[in-house]
Amino acid sequence: MGKSEEEKKNRKGNGPVIRKTLRFMLRTAWKEKPSLFVVYGIQFAAQLIQKVQIVILPKFLMDELTLIIRGEGLSVHVKNVILYAAIICGMSLLSNVMNNVVYQWRAILEEWFNEYFETLLADHTMKMDFEHTEDPAVLDQLNRAKEGISWYSGGVTGVLNSVYNMVINVTVLAGVTMVIALTCPLLLPIQIVALFLITFLNAKQNQIEIVQYGKLAKINRVFGYYLYRLADFSYGKEIRLYDSAEMMCRKAGRKSDEMIGTWRELSERKRTYSWGMDVVNAIRDGLSYFYMGLLAITGRITVGDFTMCAAAASELYQGMWGVVSAWQDITKRCIYANEFLVFLEYPERLSKGERQVRGEKHTIEFSHVSFRYPRSEQYVLKDINLTISSGEHLSVVGLNGAGKTTFIKLLCRLYDVTEGEILIDGINIKEYSEAEYRKLFAVVFQDFKLLAFSLRENITFGEAAQEEEVNRVLELAGFYEDARKLPEGLDTMLYKSFDEHGTELSGGQQQKTAIARALYRNAPIVILDEPTAALDPVAEYDIYRHFDCLVGNRTAIYISHRLSSCKFCDRIAVFADNTIKEYGTHSELVGREKGIYAKMFAAQAQHYVEV
Ligand code: ADP
Repeated sequence: MGKSEEEKKNRKGNGPVIRKTLRFMLRTAWKEKPSLFVVYGIQFAAQLIQKVQIVILPKFLMDELTLIIRGEGLSVHVKNVILYAAIICGMSLLSNVMNNVVYQWRAILEEWFNEYFETLLADHTMKMDFEHTEDPAVLDQLNRAKEGISWYSGGVTGVLNSVYNMVINVTVLAGVTMVIALTCPLLLPIQIVALFLITFLNAKQNQIEIVQYGKLAKINRVFGYYLYRLADFSYGKEIRLYDSAEMMCRKAGRKSDEMIGTWRELSERKRTYSWGMDVVNAIRDGLSYFYMGLLAITGRITVGDFTMCAAAASELYQGMWGVVSAWQDITKRCIYANEFLVFLEYPERLSKGERQVRGEKHTIEFSHVSFRYPRSEQYVLKDINLTISSGEHLSVVGLNGAGKTTFIKLLCRLYDVTEGEILIDGINIKEYSEAEYRKLFAVVFQDFKLLAFSLRENITFGEAAQEEEVNRVLELAGFYEDARKLPEGLDTMLYKSFDEHGTELSGGQQQKTAIARALYRNAPIVILDEPTAALDPVAEYDIYRHFDCLVGNRTAIYISHRLSSCKFCDRIAVFADNTIKEYGTHSELVGREKGIYAKMFAAQAQHYVEV
């Protein structure tokens, strides 16, 4: 397809996007904050009052003044002058007051809608399949949605402001066209030709802007990455230890230069068109005043008519320009805001089960489960068959990359299996309600995250905190004593993002906090996915053993590369070559000659002999 054909198709393609976005914005505004339409109503009335006051009333004032200057019926005309002046003042005051009220009100609504969209975006992101969070195309779309709905389009108020501008401009245009047609009709073609030329030049400028903004968005993303990392405490250690601050600043500096260069290029490329517009404006004004002056000198219009026509011509031009730019604005804003709708169209989780999880005891079964990650050809797990009875404690071991974490992710339904099925109590896990299903698990992942909340909130996640229970789980995680010593105890904020007195926990303390969080959740199936890598073997062994005591009759799955931590488990599954190679109790596996487990255990012996 040729370039111009493609452009034509693109242009034609905007219609449905605009209609869809407008419908969405109008519906959202009407449903969430109908008061926005009251705001527009008041603003509309205020602007009409202002236009009448600027265009029509001065005519009567001028005509009365002309009569006074000519000395005709002095007292009547002076009275009229005072009356018109008072009306003009009154209308000006009224429209200004109305505009001020609306300005504040609209700013509040704008902020409200910004937060509404952010929440909608976060909500949808959480409801999407987890695999989408790793898909570069989805992440890109998420960025486009954020930018599109915020400052590129202005969200609901941004798009509806453009629609409002269209409505008010069309109304004003109809009024002033009538005034001009009745008084100095030739002004119409002069203004229309000028507008046509200006629109053309402006469209050229817009094209340049769109290309340059596309470049800027890319540069901004990279620039933002460097700056955020530099300002992010969690990267502080790496940045300092590896002296990478200088490199990052240098890279950020280069991006900043690129950004300035792009802005400079933008203004240079727009300059010729700006000059063209200035020339067209000057010619338009010269011709208009010459024509109106001629009519006035030849007595075909009064001085008042001259004033009115001059004001009407300016309003006509502004109105026509307003309609064109409102249309361009609607198009541009809708296209940007549409990125948000495209993101919302990414499906929420496909299979939505309804089934409730019943009872306290649950049997987990992997039946011929194979899995490969989305957009990957390679199977990470192949034909996994395993049953974990209720209350069983299973240890999952294997070399790095053997698929242990993937096995846990499948069980937690962060991904759906490629082949086979996972059953809980004999029922495919896809049939369960997702919210219910997730309640079954308390998981501590290798790459667990703590949030910039208080220590207590990181453990309880907003539940009305049971002080005793929090202390108990902290004790079990081996963090009670240290936690008491923190400046504000349980209420100490983690990280310094929001609180300058916030604390940076050590790696081990963070892991203990994550473990305490899992213990607090009191779920029937608990999983530790090697969250203890920062601990020494003795501390790790203690945690796993403590943890195992607390877990008691609940089902537990432990991943650890330190095999001493598996000794107390009922069963051990050894992952290798994408599948379960060995399965049995510690004493069974350790006794197998040339067994993988036996070899790994022997290799690590020095770590646990003293335990
Ligand atoms: P383990 O926990 O045993 O160290 P993982 O389950 O983390 O192993 O990883 C198993 C394999 O899957 C590895 O080869 C890893 O590179 C790959 N893998 C892990 N996560 C992803 C992902 N999100 N996308 C693609 N491949 C992945």
